[in-house]
Amino acid sequence: ILHIQDLTKTYQSTGHTLTVLDSINFSVEEGSTLAIIGPSGSGKTTLLGLCAGLDRSSAGLVELNGIRLDNLNEDARAQVRNQHVGFIFQNFQLLPTLTALENVMVPMELRGAKNIKPQAMDLLDKVGLADRAHHYPTQLSGGEQQRVSLARAFSNKPKILFADEPTGNLDAETSEKVVKLIFDLNREAGTTLVLVTHDAELAAKTQRILRMKGGKLISDERTVG
Ligand code: ATP
Repeated sequence: ILHIQDLTKTYQSTGHTLTVLDSINFSVEEGSTLAIIGPSGSGKTTLLGLCAGLDRSSAGLVELNGIRLDNLNEDARAQVRNQHVGFIFQNFQLLPTLTALENVMVPMELRGAKNIKPQAMDLLDKVGLADRAHHYPTQLSGGEQQRVSLARAFSNKPKILFADEPTGNLDAETSEKVVKLIFDLNREAGTTLVLVTHDAELAAKTQRILRMKGGKLISDERTVG
């Protein structure tokens, strides 16, 4: 479902070139689960963003569900994201002027789905936040915002879910709930999972672990499951 070839990302800063991703190659099978690990600053978030079409590569190929993303403009990439991709951001990125419920409804509206309010309520209920539906992001705790972000990521029934540190800001109990929801989505709907995490226990739950260092992919291992 995802094919990455010679993917490179550079930034220009004060007259010199910073290579953040250096010729990355890998493919992900549909329905599989994968974790990307590695030290802070090794390029994990950047890689996830390029795979999901949030950002554009400097060189190399990104193919998602048979669609080349690397030569599409932002509008075309946004369309692909709305159709196929769920994304959970490290810092949630909820829209501050919308309630929890409205945040969850956004991807549904973009997709042109009908009768979305009850469906969005169902999703909030699933993440245990039915009673917070009309709260604004600033009125929610970090863990609650994370769960709204999860409900939003599920709301367009994505073929592939990208999650950047999905348990990073959560207590043990909430973290367990979130992890269960994510893996249920994989088991029940066949959603492909690509997770960035510092949590070794979470990484070990996936079928495959990619390790990054200094913008390079340094290992690619199948786990026991
Ligand atoms: P962490 O685990 O801390 O989240 P990471 O592995 O996800 O780290 P990235 O966020 O992908 O790392 O960042 C990789 C490198 O790219 C960092 O050194 C960062 O400073 C640099 N970087 C990211 N975005 C930009 C930007 N817009 N301009 C310049 N450099 C950037």
